[in-house]
Amino acid sequence: AGFAELGLSSWLVEQCRQLGLKKPTPVQLGCIPAILEGRDCLGCAKTGSGKTAAFVLPILQKLSEDPYGIFCLVLTPTRELAYQIAERFRVLGKPLGLKDCIIVGGMDMVAQALELSRKPHVVIATPGRLADHLRSSNTFSIKKIRFLVMDEADRLLEQGCTDFTVDLEAILAAVPARRQTLLFSATLTDTLRELQGLATNQPFFWEA
Ligand code: AMP
Repeated sequence: AGFAELGLSSWLVEQCRQLGLKKPTPVQLGCIPAILEGRDCLGCAKTGSGKTAAFVLPILQKLSEDPYGIFCLVLTPTRELAYQIAERFRVLGKPLGLKDCIIVGGMDMVAQALELSRKPHVVIATPGRLADHLRSSNTFSIKKIRFLVMDEADRLLEQGCTDFTVDLEAILAAVPARRQTLLFSATLTDTLRELQGLATNQPFFWEA
């Protein structure tokens, strides 16, 4: 099957083609139709499997049908991953004029707060810094997001100091109950099983 058979719009199929993504990888074959159907997703997939496009493509399709900001929040454990994910959104979402915003530690809080207030479609964040913004600023809201993505969820949880739990709770309290939750992790650890409760919406499980 090609990308079109997964239910993606022709403009996204064309974006894939231009970027040299010819055939969907297994994680993409499994997750893209499920996400397009509106289901939550729990994917066990390593870096290199194509998992980023597995969530970026269907999110871009839903965003194109109903564009508003902030539409999607992606939580990821490291700054490097945040930049990689943002790049994927930017390149694949170019025809949409996608606005993204990267919220990671070590960068200027004021500049980030300004970016958040400009209603980016997609926010890609490390939890600690995003929680700092939620506590200190009322210039943006994530209470209407459609998608919550937790990328490398096992590593997110590994940083499981108490701070992290507090940060994650602050974030979860700020997002709507009605949303799609997409969890990706290299391994299915016990801590990850605890997160499964976040994905209750006809969850689709994917494992290689
Ligand atoms: P990821 O697992 O998301 O980190 O992606 C790993 C690499 O695979 C990235 O460089 C992608 O550009 C590439 N990739 C993702 N999907 C495909 C595909 N369907 N065909 C070929 N390469 C892909």
